[in-house]
Amino acid sequence: MKVIEKIREAAKEDRTVFSFEFFPPKTEDGVENLFERMERMASHNPSFCDITWGAGGSTADLTLDISNKMQNMICVETMMHLTCTNMPVEKIDHALDTIKQNGIQNVLALRGDPPHGQDKFVQVAGGFACGLDLVAHIRAKYGDYFGITVAGYPEAHPDMISSEGGVTLENYLSDLAYLKRKVDAGADLIVTQLFYDTDIFLKFVHDCRQIGITCPIVPGIMPINNYKGFVRMTGFCKTKIPDEITKALEPIKDNEEAVRAYGVHLGTEMCKKILSHGIKTLHLYTLNMEKSALAILMNLGLIDESKISRPFPWRRPANVFRVKEDVRPIFWANRPKSYLSRTLGWEQYPHGRWGDSCNPSYGALTDYQFMRRRSRNKKILEEWAVPLKSVEDVKEKFTNYCLGKVKSHPWSELDGLQPETLMINEKLGQVNSKGFFTINSQPAVNGEKSDSPSVGWGGPGGYVYQKAYLEFFCSKEKLDALVENCKGLPSVTYIAVNKQGERVSNVGPIAVNAVTWGVFPAKEVLQPTVVDPVSFMVWKDEAFEIWNKGWGVLYPEGDPSKQILNEVQNSYFLVSLVDNDYVHGDLYAMFSDI
Ligand code: FAD
Repeated sequence: MKVIEKIREAAKEDRTVFSFEFFPPKTEDGVENLFERMERMASHNPSFCDITWGAGGSTADLTLDISNKMQNMICVETMMHLTCTNMPVEKIDHALDTIKQNGIQNVLALRGDPPHGQDKFVQVAGGFACGLDLVAHIRAKYGDYFGITVAGYPEAHPDMISSEGGVTLENYLSDLAYLKRKVDAGADLIVTQLFYDTDIFLKFVHDCRQIGITCPIVPGIMPINNYKGFVRMTGFCKTKIPDEITKALEPIKDNEEAVRAYGVHLGTEMCKKILSHGIKTLHLYTLNMEKSALAILMNLGLIDESKISRPFPWRRPANVFRVKEDVRPIFWANRPKSYLSRTLGWEQYPHGRWGDSCNPSYGALTDYQFMRRRSRNKKILEEWAVPLKSVEDVKEKFTNYCLGKVKSHPWSELDGLQPETLMINEKLGQVNSKGFFTINSQPAVNGEKSDSPSVGWGGPGGYVYQKAYLEFFCSKEKLDALVENCKGLPSVTYIAVNKQGERVSNVGPIAVNAVTWGVFPAKEVLQPTVVDPVSFMVWKDEAFEIWNKGWGVLYPEGDPSKQILNEVQNSYFLVSLVDNDYVHGDLYAMFSDI
């Protein structure tokens, strides 16, 4: 979706929105840490996040890659910066075509600064001379597909500012007139350069309106995180520093913590003043750090750690091709990235109902589905690569995970147990200790408020429901006992399958079962997760493969632990169990005599 549409929607509802800017880190570890931070920050529902384009195109490939993952894996509306410095038109089009294919609809079109070591921008042969050229090119070549943002300079562009600071009225007005040309050429949003004098920003907005710029102007707020960085950045941008800020920083400049606390205070006060003037959008230059940006938003009451609301039980992708998607099989609940990658090629995504999925064309399993972030690799190695003497040791690992003693899990891409799982973790621990190795579950819910912190989704005002669900591996012997118990419990449906595809079930091969649904004011009933037997047969290959590629792979070749895991993989069944009586059912009772 275009950011401008989101901002307009929010304006209609008189809602304040905010966004976060990141830059591509220099190392692989840095990139991985950034994704973790983005995931946390994205859970606060920013209207978008943007990623910068390194000076002179130095980060082109990385910026493209990060943009793609932001949009499609972190699932946050993404705006990619694109500069024309050092960029022939073919390279610019390659970047735009790439993000278009990846379902990204937002670009921040810039001229760019000269690469390190050069002090003047040089137009490449056949390239563009300024941001305006780039805006015009995007509109001419891509029509209305992209939402285009441009940079605005409340104190005028640094080139217009004299070395002593300050800008002539003539230069300021010429800068404004040029900004209007960028908007007239097709930009629909302005994000400003950082500033620390809020009055200058407010005057800039007023002056823009006077010359007929009507699009939203989003203030770029850079929280002061550290004194030296602040001095460097404001020096580079020739930013005016009000005296009171200099005075406040001088005595604390060597105390990082005090500087950061002041930065949060100052950022909060600046935003309060901006909001009090009716401006409802804030853009935070995070410098890839989360604390100060989040603290400011918390001070403003725009976010609340305890009220992170989920639009769905799973995170909805921002990709323009998937915006209508609202149903998924429950099996990938703990492996959303894998699900996204295996469904990437779908032309349509289930909307309203899962429907007839007799032949869902899931992408083939590749190594991609088993790749882990480095930090997760470390954690899994630490927690799971322990010598196994028998299946008893396997049982202990699964049990400890449910009891919170182990934080990582080979079958999960998520960090630890989810809030709703914590409601049933003791029961799960007991089931695991009986030799049912659980990998997915949800408790029964009968009409909880949709903003409940543990099971809510879809925002306030509605009610959510779900059937108790449990998915696990167990031996044939345990499965037989379970099947026997199910005979006396008509509300329980199950599908079990082993690695070889031998199937045991009391439901038809295509009977789809909605296991989560929500009732909201003035809306049709939503049913975002289903148990679909056809998809289960696809999922089972992935689930069985994890014994080897997620866990066994942690041991050296020939290690006896590998053998134990192989035996489980080859002889156990994967079982999906639903208690359809979400009002009175007790799914866990059926394990009591096993
Ligand atoms: P332009 O739109 O070309 O304008 C720059 C200035 O030149 C204008 O303000 C105006 O004063 C003058 N000018 C240009 N053409 C004309 C004309 N025809 N008539 C009159 N005046 C003219 N840099 C990066 O390298 N990567 C990034 O990701 C990046 N992100 C940024 C994000 C924001 C929000 C901002 C504010 C800046 C960002 N920059 C980034 C820095 C930016 O590239 C520099 O400030 C650069 O010097 C100008 O870029 P621009 O798009 O504003 O340039």
